[in-house]
Amino acid sequence: MAPRSEARTAPSGSSAGGPARRTQLFLARGLPAALEPLTELALDLRWTWSHASDALWRALDADAWERSANPWLVLQDAPAERLEAAASDAAFVSAVQRAVAQHRARLCAPAWFEVAHPQAALAPVAYFSMEYGLGEGLPLYAGGLGVLAGDHLKAASDLGVPLAAVGLLYQEGYFRQQVEASGEQHERYPYNDPLSLPIQPALDAGGGWLHVQLALPGRPLWLRLWRAQVGRTTLLLLDANDALNAPADRGITAKLYGDGSEVRLLQEIVLGVGGWRALEAAGVTSEVCHLNEGHAAFAAVERARRFALAHGATLGEALWATRAGNVFTTHTPVAAGFDRFPPELVRRYLPAFELEAAGATGEALLRLGRRDPGDAREPLNMAVLGLRTCARTNGVSRLHGEVSRELFQELFPRWPRTEVPIGHVTNGVHVPSWDSHLADRLWTDACGKARWLGTLSNLEEGLCAVPDAALWELRTVSRGDLVRYARFRLEQQLGQRGEGPAAAAQAAAVLDPTALTLGFARRFAEYKRPNLLLSDPARLAALLGRADRPVQLVVAGKAHPADELGKRLVAEWVRFSHRADVRARAVFLEDYDVALAQRLVAGVDVWINTPRRPWEACGTSGMKVLVNGGLNLSALDGWWAEAWTPETGWALPPGGDDAADAAALYRLLEEEVVPMFYRRGPDGVPGAWVTRMRASMARLAPRFSANRMVRDYAERVYLPAAASFRRRCADGARLARELARWAAELDARWREVRIGPVRVRSDEHGHGFEAQVECGEVPCEAIRAEVYADPEPGGAEPVRVAMTCGAALAGSAEGHLWTARVATRRPAADFTIRVVPSHPEAAVPAEAWHIAWQR
Ligand SMILES: *Cc1c(COP(=O)(O)O)cnc(C)c1O
Repeated sequence: MAPRSEARTAPSGSSAGGPARRTQLFLARGLPAALEPLTELALDLRWTWSHASDALWRALDADAWERSANPWLVLQDAPAERLEAAASDAAFVSAVQRAVAQHRARLCAPAWFEVAHPQAALAPVAYFSMEYGLGEGLPLYAGGLGVLAGDHLKAASDLGVPLAAVGLLYQEGYFRQQVEASGEQHERYPYNDPLSLPIQPALDAGGGWLHVQLALPGRPLWLRLWRAQVGRTTLLLLDANDALNAPADRGITAKLYGDGSEVRLLQEIVLGVGGWRALEAAGVTSEVCHLNEGHAAFAAVERARRFALAHGATLGEALWATRAGNVFTTHTPVAAGFDRFPPELVRRYLPAFELEAAGATGEALLRLGRRDPGDAREPLNMAVLGLRTCARTNGVSRLHGEVSRELFQELFPRWPRTEVPIGHVTNGVHVPSWDSHLADRLWTDACGKARWLGTLSNLEEGLCAVPDAALWELRTVSRGDLVRYARFRLEQQLGQRGEGPAAAAQAAAVLDPTALTLGFARRFAEYKRPNLLLSDPARLAALLGRADRPVQLVVAGKAHPADELGKRLVAEWVRFSHRADVRARAVFLEDYDVALAQRLVAGVDVWINTPRRPWEACGTSGMKVLVNGGLNLSALDGWWAEAWTPETGWALPPGGDDAADAAALYRLLEEEVVPMFYRRGPDGVPGAWVTRMRASMARLAPRFSANRMVRDYAERVYLPAAASFRRRCADGARLARELARWAAELDARWREVRIGPVRVRSDEHGHGFEAQVECGEVPCEAIRAEVYADPEPGGAEPVRVAMTCGAALAGSAEGHLWTARVATRRPAADFTIRVVPSHPEAAVPAEAWHIAWQR
């Protein structure tokens, strides 16, 4: 890496008087002046989904472009003669100018958000995630969580939702997989050289490199800041690999999910505390902070601390202000999946939080992250911390919302599960990143070029007008592309293992471009049951092997380095794919990554997914096949539980055990999928199959797109959160301070709240309730009495009727008679009286979960 003093500055845009605006500090070579504008294109990761400038990169260095798909690397590596020749080629230079002008115009064009919410004036949403899967040019992800975060940034850019993201720059990231002939997995950790990554140092106004500092025990930790551009969205990356740091600390941001829990805690402190400071250092002021999974929850703590310092508030008051603007998305469907840190470990690193400066103690942090704040032995749970510091929490599919309400029920003791304040925003994928060139062309013809930039309202209609033959053509050509790519990858794989020319010849002959192609690729985690399809190898081999109706299978996936069972499952698949009778029909491709995923989801006819319900919070890989005309066959878990209809795909019936699910999977393939694929009309097109494709593309692709997801977040979450945060901050945070007093009073005096005698008068229209409610010293405006009934059988919503506070009870300071009428046919015995906190600006029970029930 170039030392700072040798950094090259760009000659562009020096403003009068001030220091030159530096854009390409980190390009190690000079470019001919006519090609300088290319740096702007190369540094905008928009090239991961827009292919407008592909031809330019190919022209400069076809080999580097094919291998890396990273234009920044092309600029570094292109032979000098090629650059000189291109710079003196008038046609090339004007193509460059056109591409840059178009790029700038696109970034400035009014987008959906500006048009739909012209008055919103939303400050950039601060988005925190431990991983980002934007593309192989910037490999900072392990799997679905990161790919989702990457897709979120891209869709925010498309829609013009203002967003500034924060993450970590891993020197090694997640491991790369190599697999031996025996099936044994090896993990490799290639170095992410920042010089080759499409990122730049984040600079301050004077051109100096931005850093933030954390106070680790006995030494400071310096974090360098890098900037990645994703269209209109900025991603700031924190990097501990600075020579100013203690040698051991430089590796804090080396591996993703690789080192033990101490490094993990440090990474999460860097992401949360360092990340919030990084945004401030970069001049970003946010109203809304979005935590993508609990890893990032320390950001909410640092945000509150900074608020307290800036407003002369206590940490408690600051939490009441900032919580309104914090959003927590949980991605975990089982309690074991939450990050937990032992209190001793957290205490060692408490200095990094500097809570004393805000008049608080480190114990306040530990209390916030415990189910029982008073239990000093309880670990710090990052999901609890997220829930307690964010007024809004959501799961990532409808089913996962339900599962999360159950999982977090214990944080809201004695509240009915249906009222646990966790909703859902179902995930979606950034369609332009996952469609093939061919699918892009078909959709452009059917629905126009700007189809993923608006509200998607006309897509279903457009797709329904596409002729059967065109859809089948898309399938046929795409399958052929995948077959060619799989042969190429397999040949490389065998070559690297040293298997010689015979193996290469064998690779060239695998798979058949006309055979029904199943895809199965994912992390080899046990709950995903990657071997369910393999549970009866003979039956699977028979399915693949029929000469009249051949079926083939492409499999890929990594097992976490510490997951021995997962590694055994990888080995099982690899060995199966070597069987002489299936070798030509089943291929295991190593090193599943975004680039391979793109090829797979574009080419398969059917995508198979077999998670154990309800362990898949959402799952997104199946969404990626939709736009390309692939169909899903999946367990009814995650997104598929809300997406599946009999017209759009296939589902394993719910409630089965592993054996039943395996049987159902084989049966569906043998009796439904295979026959439907091979039932051809006189024109050679399988009519029923194409009908299904069209239904899946037209109805599901828009609904499970990141466009829909980000619009949901913007309208249902970000805008209300920003408005609520502004109200709490106004006027020296008057409302936040009032809420803090209100909550403190409830905490201190809730014991005194008591529901006395209740009278019910019933007639044919319903019931009249009268309850004597004693609330001791709690003012009656701070509470509300309600008539409550559980949902009716089959219903989802409980009955809640607010009661009216009436006459004071004789001889009591704050005792009142509360009354309500409930029009209903249900018996009076279904109803009960309860008292809950009440404040028009508080989220109950998310922020105040006291409750008292009629005995
Ligand atoms: C989409 C994607 C995932 C997530 O897929 P799941 O369906 O959640 O398993 C994981 N890895 C890669 C490389 C992906 O592209």
